[in-house]
Amino acid sequence: MSRALIIGAGGVAGVVIHKCCQNSGVFTDICIASRTKAKCDKFKEELKDKTSANITTAQVDADNVPQLVALIKEYKPDIVINVALPYQDLHIMDACLECKVDYLDTANYEPEDTAKFEYSWQWAYRERFEKAGITAVLGCGFDPGVTGVFSAYAQKHYFDEINYIDILDCNGGDHGYPFATNFNPEINIREVSAKGSYIEDGKWVETEPMEIKRVYNFDQVGEKDMYLLHHEELESLALNIKGVKRIRFFMTFGQSYLTHLKCLENVGMTSIEPIMYEGREIVPLQFLKAVLPDPASLGPRTVGKTNIGCIFQGKKDGKPRNYYVYNVCDHQECYKEVGSQAISYTTGVPAMIGAMMVLTGKWKRPGVFNVEEFDPDPFMDALNKWGLPWTENFDPVLVD
Ligand code: NDP
Repeated sequence: MSRALIIGAGGVAGVVIHKCCQNSGVFTDICIASRTKAKCDKFKEELKDKTSANITTAQVDADNVPQLVALIKEYKPDIVINVALPYQDLHIMDACLECKVDYLDTANYEPEDTAKFEYSWQWAYRERFEKAGITAVLGCGFDPGVTGVFSAYAQKHYFDEINYIDILDCNGGDHGYPFATNFNPEINIREVSAKGSYIEDGKWVETEPMEIKRVYNFDQVGEKDMYLLHHEELESLALNIKGVKRIRFFMTFGQSYLTHLKCLENVGMTSIEPIMYEGREIVPLQFLKAVLPDPASLGPRTVGKTNIGCIFQGKKDGKPRNYYVYNVCDHQECYKEVGSQAISYTTGVPAMIGAMMVLTGKWKRPGVFNVEEFDPDPFMDALNKWGLPWTENFDPVLVD
């Protein structure tokens, strides 16, 4: 018997809502609250006859802490699942602290006016969450999220020491548009147009955007170009995985996506600096978001598969060992099951599982945590059960 308050009603939220409804033995009561209540009501309408969970909806501005507090006090959830945008993270954490309710999100805080994401702002809440006796689980989507669970699993079962981690995020899906992003365009473009970076010997090494390219042959997808990006889990894995010397993150991009992105950048459309347009201030990137396809609408048209996983190199009993663990997810299968494409699916399923881990006491500890700090085993079992089965390979092709 537990009550979850889900904040946000976009692509990822849609999957979280479907999955919580499927898992109504744990999630008996669900409140969907977002800026646009009509979107919450649409999910309720779609699901109310398909689940035994009681669904309610609410309007909330998650940048307004008193509004959030009033909603939490009224609904009395056991956990708040934040699948709005990274800009809201701190406000929602503040409200959870005030009401002493557990918290979970899928992306780390990013101030709206600087395209910079790092954990320091959220880690600064540790002591307050400990004192309040509540749990915050940070970054519980796929990457970050499952990639951290994979790392904890590798460390627990297969290695005495992990020296190298390569996270490979491949989207082999095709939505048929010349240019669209698979999740919130603003967040996505801020991420991929930023400088790349990786961690080597405890230090950040910075690269130009898309400077480092590799080609990898992904199981069930095939050969793809992938590029080194800065990504948030590098920061926490460098602290939590013992003995690690280098961590890199690669994401696949097709040539058409990169050409469009370069052109948009060159004309100034990806800028987050406000400009005056017809007497009012607009942010070019926000305007671009408004003209691009809504990621939530890509579901019916996206075909192909994603393959996301981690390659670990290290030592076990004094001998070198390599280990690759990954999930392959089919866009159309996701669409048939929950009405969205695989990027939202691979993010929303782990968020539901993480919330279940907290609600069932398996990941319940006072403080603020990244996923790799918890026992990975029950989460790994749940991935197989709830739609994201994983495959292991002890002799993978390595990335040079
Ligand atoms: P969408 O843009 O589709 O959805 C965001 C939702 O949040 C919308 O419903 C929006 O409302 C709502 N929202 C925005 N601002 C507010 C506010 N101030 N108050 C209340 N609601 C608000 O994004 P996605 O679903 O694609 O992404 C959701 C999150 O998942 C993001 O943080 C993203 O970074 C993260 N993510 C994580 C991944 C991972 O693997 N870890 C991968 C992909 C995404 P409205 O409908 O009114 O616009």
